[in-house]
Amino acid sequence: MLMILSILLFSCAESKIETGPSDKILALLEQSKALKQRGDRVEQSMLRKKDSIDLLIDGPSSDQDNTVNGDFVDITSLSNDFVLDMRYATSNNFLKEKVYPCAKCYVRKNVANALLQANKDLMKEGYRIKLFDCYRPHSIQKKMWKIFPNPGYVADPKGGSVHNRGAAVDLSIVRLDGGAIDMGTDFDHFGKEAHHSYSMLSKTVLGHRKLLKEIMQKNGFTTIRTEWWHYNYKSGKSYKISDFTWKCN
Ligand SMILES: [Zn+2]
Repeated sequence: MLMILSILLFSCAESKIETGPSDKILALLEQSKALKQRGDRVEQSMLRKKDSIDLLIDGPSSDQDNTVNGDFVDITSLSNDFVLDMRYATSNNFLKEKVYPCAKCYVRKNVANALLQANKDLMKEGYRIKLFDCYRPHSIQKKMWKIFPNPGYVADPKGGSVHNRGAAVDLSIVRLDGGAIDMGTDFDHFGKEAHHSYSMLSKTVLGHRKLLKEIMQKNGFTTIRTEWWHYNYKSGKSYKISDFTWKCN
């Protein structure tokens, strides 16, 4: 009896040594592998977040000297073919406040050249570009944010907007004689009707939006989903945020 018991005990102990711990070790190894993978994923997502934060904040620390205009150019010094309707130099805008001291359209030289070409292309079709907003000094962005601190409407000055980099324009089209064109909504209409994907509009309106989009894209501009009037030149992020302010003379 004692013999049988000791054999049983021995075999149990032995089987524990053989199978028990190795299962545990395997489970632990699996667990640590999963933890490492999770750690790698967290690290990668943190790097991605860091990249996007860097993209947002790479500008504000530099190019803040508002006494030099860098490579900014007043679009009207290059061409008289644009119509200017600079809304932020009036109170006819969603802020209901005049935030620019006077109506000027400054952009980076490359952006100006691309706009000039886009306008030439549109003039062949019987239209001209009407500009609502161009380069926006960083200090004005801060002013707008103070009046309306809602990221759905105004870009947070911390990250800045492509307008602050001189590489974004808000525009529409008018007839060659300056006559109005129906684009479905006014400038700065913040609703789905202003989205590029919105199709519950007349064929004429959709045709105007399509023409503007095609010509702008052909000349190096890109769209944003929610505003038919807003165009960035290429990625826009390669230009630094600036606080150059123009003279009103
Ligand atoms: Zn814009």
